This record gives sequence, structure tokens and C-alpha cells, in this order.
Amino acid sequence: MSSTKFHVMCSLFNWMQKSKSSAKKRSKFRKFIDNFCKPSDYFSAIRLILPSLDRERGSYGLKESVLATCLIDALGISRESSDAIRLINWRKGGAKTGASAGNFSQVAAEVLQLRQGTTSGELTIKELNDMLDRLASSENRAEKTSVLSELIQKTNAQEMKWIVMIILKDLKLGTSEKSIFHEFHPDAEDLFNVTCDLKLVCEKLSDRSQRHKRQDIEVGKPVRPQLALRVSNAAGAWKKLHGKEVVVECKFDGDRIQIHKNGEDIHFFSRNFLDHPEYGHAMSKIIQKNVVTDRCILDGEMLVWDTSTNRFAEFGSNQEIAKAAKEGLENDRQLCYVAFDILYVGDTSVIHQSLKERHELIRKVVKPIKGRLEILVPNGSTNVQRPSGEPCWSRIAYSVDDVERFFKEIIDNRDEGIVLKDLASKWEPSDRSIKWLKLKPEYIRAGSDLDVLIIGGYYGSGRRGGEVAQFLVGLAERPTTNSYPRRFISFCRVGTGLSDEELDAVVTKLKPYFRKYEYPKKAAPSFYQVTNNSKERPDVWIDSPEKSIILSINSDIRTIRSEVFSAPYSLRFPRIDRVRYDKPWHECLDVQSFIELVHSSNGT
Ligand code: ATP
Repeated sequence: MSSTKFHVMCSLFNWMQKSKSSAKKRSKFRKFIDNFCKPSDYFSAIRLILPSLDRERGSYGLKESVLATCLIDALGISRESSDAIRLINWRKGGAKTGASAGNFSQVAAEVLQLRQGTTSGELTIKELNDMLDRLASSENRAEKTSVLSELIQKTNAQEMKWIVMIILKDLKLGTSEKSIFHEFHPDAEDLFNVTCDLKLVCEKLSDRSQRHKRQDIEVGKPVRPQLALRVSNAAGAWKKLHGKEVVVECKFDGDRIQIHKNGEDIHFFSRNFLDHPEYGHAMSKIIQKNVVTDRCILDGEMLVWDTSTNRFAEFGSNQEIAKAAKEGLENDRQLCYVAFDILYVGDTSVIHQSLKERHELIRKVVKPIKGRLEILVPNGSTNVQRPSGEPCWSRIAYSVDDVERFFKEIIDNRDEGIVLKDLASKWEPSDRSIKWLKLKPEYIRAGSDLDVLIIGGYYGSGRRGGEVAQFLVGLAERPTTNSYPRRFISFCRVGTGLSDEELDAVVTKLKPYFRKYEYPKKAAPSFYQVTNNSKERPDVWIDSPEKSIILSINSDIRTIRSEVFSAPYSLRFPRIDRVRYDKPWHECLDVQSFIELVHSSNGT
């Protein structure tokens, strides 16, 4: 019978959070496992400590803003009350929120403190997990609110604060998942990496003194993906792989998906080990027919292929196309899986074979179909070729010049970058060593500088909580000759590129012109054209554009079609190059010039 009380875990969390040394954190955790937690409770406890690794429970569908509204309703306070506004505006500073600005669980704890007592509700961790299961499976806000209200009744403010952090899947304990696994059992991390199954790890490894024989991967259980180490240039990458036989591949920009095929049972596991059945409608039959073995695991990227342009669509439309396929809608765009590795064939794991051997296996097992199912292997008759004149996606590199050339071709083709792989290497779960190296372009100047105007600001979180840390920037509506622009069109959100001092200087200069975007008032100043999409909505507006500042921004060469912002295109990975105090506000780039720039760089 399970009996570990949640307040005991809260004491552990408080201790771990307070102690500076990681050895102390680990020993506290060990003590908890040995003295306060029965083996039958291990899974209940560990899934609360490592919530982001828990696959048993679906998603709560509760990010900070929705959680704020549900908590307000669960507490039964008016949405207009000052506490409700503090919760909704958790990122902002302000008289009451003070130091906790930018830290949602802290703001929630302060609000809860006033309403909940200090006596513990004596909830057991088993009961808490049952309630969290209900929270995740409830389908609407009203049901979620009712579970939260029950939780509030059964806990005190301190416990509720930790529950909020568990729901947000970040306990900020200052210790890594590696340390928790290692302290729990020396083989826990290895077993988790090949099964992604926390429950199984807790059940199989409940006795720390019993070593567990290394387990191989299995069809049906997602494996933690091998990752790539970032290098800054081709020469550096070549040096790291010195003397090795190397393949260079295009770094595709889609969803990393592992396909597990077991007869007719086909699963699509994402990088965070969740199953994505929505890909099944478009892809299962194709996999069924063109992967000519009954059981296998493929590793690769799910993308969208555009049949009208004969190229991959820009990142971000996978879900939309999967949905269209489910509804049987005809489209120029279709899902396409690019298999770049194979981990299991027939009855055997093949991760211990070399990449070169695995390429041979992919060739044997996967019959490619253009734009639907592609394979990424160098040479040979099945080598993937782009339409004539375009580069291929995978090539053996014999020198650093080969790498440079391939990189240039890939970048010219507006792809994300390249991955270099050691052809003799095994596939290792969760590894991010030098077996795979990724090389991406540094931010490339978009032909000419993009000089855009700051039109709004977003509060930061954590260290920059309560201070504007990112900007909403706009493009000008093209003015008539000899006049200044009258309207500015929201374009993108940008935060990186400036030092702390540079950012502080801009924020200080603009502060007198900040107009808070007060909840629940929604209107933007009339001289800004915006979408009011929640992802666009800034925390403050600049209340007169003539007082604002121009920023030169650059970005990865690709633009994206934008629904979040009002301009037709936005930038992918924008970055502030410098602050143009020397440029007056009215010299902001106008939308038409920007569109011309996009078209000329697209060659259209
Ligand atoms: P980044 O922020 O650079 O995109 P990332 O989140 O993509 O990083 P990394 O481990 O750095 O993760 O890079 C590996 C990822 O690159 C894989 O998870 C996969 O989704 C993607 N990828 C695209 N093409 C390839 C390829 N040819 N080989 C391996 N990974 C690839």
C-alpha cells in the first residue's frame, strides 16, 4: 500500500533547491529514496521529479497563460481582481509582484499564500499522480479548473507551488536528470535511453545493488535520438573528424521522427518520445508497402514536399498537412519522410553496425518514392538527386574543400545547414559527441540591412523578469513622396544580438514612451497595423513612433510566411545587429521594399 506523503517530497525539493553543491543535492535525493520512499512508490516519485520525461501522462494543455486563468477560476477570485491581474501579467514587474516577476510559479505561490493555509493536506504521491492524470485527460477548461480546485483544497500553498512547477514540467532544482538517474541506479540512464519508459526503469531497477545487463533497443519502444554537436566552420569539423571516412548530409528542417514498423502496427515517435498517430493517415500505407521488412526502426526527418515547386516546403506546416491528409483534402503539398538511418531490421538491432553498413541496409529495406519517402545515402544508384542542376543531399567528403563546397551548395539552396557523420560510427542513443557534427550558417546578411522600427516590447522571464527583454519591430507603410510614414506594420519579434548594456540603454531610452498593454483592454495604437495574434501581442507599445528607435536586424537567409505578424513575411531566427541611434525613425524600411528584397533573393 502506497503511503509516501507529498509534503515529504516538497521538503526534499526545498532542500535540493536550497543547497548549492550538487553532491549535497544528490545525497538528499538518495536519503529520500532509502528512507522515505517504498519501492512500490518509486515511479510515482520519480515522475514528479522528472516530469518532462514522463510519457505515461499526456500533455496537460496548460501553459502559463491558460494555467493562470484556470487557477483564478479554481480560487474563485474575480478576473478583474489585482491578484488575478498579477497572475495573468506574471511576466511584468509592478508594485506587488516585485522580485517574482517572470517566475510564474513564484507569482502563483504568492497569490496562493494569501488564500491557502500552511497545514499540509496529507496528500500521498499516489493520490497526487491520480489527480494529475485526471488533469491531463480532462478535455476542457472547466474540468481542468475543477481538478485544480480540488488540488487547492487538499494542499497548502507550498505544496501547490511545487504542483504548479510539476505541471509546467520544470522544477528548477539545479540538478540534471543524469544525476537523478545515476543516484537512483547506475544503469537507469542507459535503460531509459533505449526505452524512454520511466515506469519500466523504476520497476526493473528498484534494487540498486543489482546491476542490469545492458539492454538493446526494441521495436515499439522509442529510443532517445542521437544528436549532433555544433561546430562553427568546415575546417573545425574536418579537424575533429581527422582521418575518418566522412559523409556530409543536408540538415533538413522538419520533425525528427523514428518510425517503428511491426507488421501492420506502425508508430511515429518524435524527439520527446511521443507517438504521433496523425502522421499515420498519410504515411502508414506507404511505409507498409515500401519498407520491405516486417519489423524495423527507421530514423529520419518528417517534412512537407511541395509538388508544384518540386522542393521541400519551409518548416512549420507538418501538422496542417497531416490534418489535410486525414480529411482527404487534395493539396500540392504532401508529407515526405526522409530516412537517414536504420536502427533495427527483422529481429536484430543494427545500431552496433557502422553507418556505412547501415546505409547498405537502408538501400535494401526502403524503396524510395520521390517526394513521399526518400533515403539519405551517398553514391549508388539510389542516391537522392535533386531536380537537375541542384545539389544532391548526401555525399562522401574527401577533403575540407568538399565540405566547404557542399555547405555552400546547401546554403545557396536555402537549406538549414549540413551534418557531417563518421561512416565508421555506431548509432548511440542520446549521444551528442563527435560522431555527428552540425554546421549551420552564421547569420547571413539579407542583402542589405533591414532597418526596422521598435513598436513594442515583451517582458523577459527569469533574470530579465519585469524588464523589457525583446522587441516587436515593424516595417513602415510606404509613404507618399516627400512625406513621413504614417503607419507601421508588425514584422517580427527579436531579442538576441545585443549585450546586456546595449539592451538596457535602448530600454531606458524608450521607457518614457512605454504604454502598458493592460489586460483586458486589447486595442493597439491606431498607427500600428497588427494581427493581435496572441504570439504577437506585446506587453508594452511605444506610444509614439516618432520617439522610437531603429534597429538593424539580420537573420538566417530564409524568410517565412507570417500569420502571427501583420507583414506578409517574417524572419526566421532574427537577430539585432546594431542599434541605429543615428537613423531617424522615418527611415525605417518599408513593406514593399522588403517584399521586393524577398522576391529578388528567392529568384522569383
Ligand atoms: P538546432 O537548434 O540546430 O536545429 P536541433 O534541435 O535540430 O538543433 P541537433 O541535435 O543539434 O538538434 O541536430 C540534430 C537534429 O537535426 C536532429 O534531431 C534532426 O531533427 C535534424 N536533422 C536534419 N537532418 C539531419 C540529418 N541528415 N542527420 C541527422 N539529423 C538531421
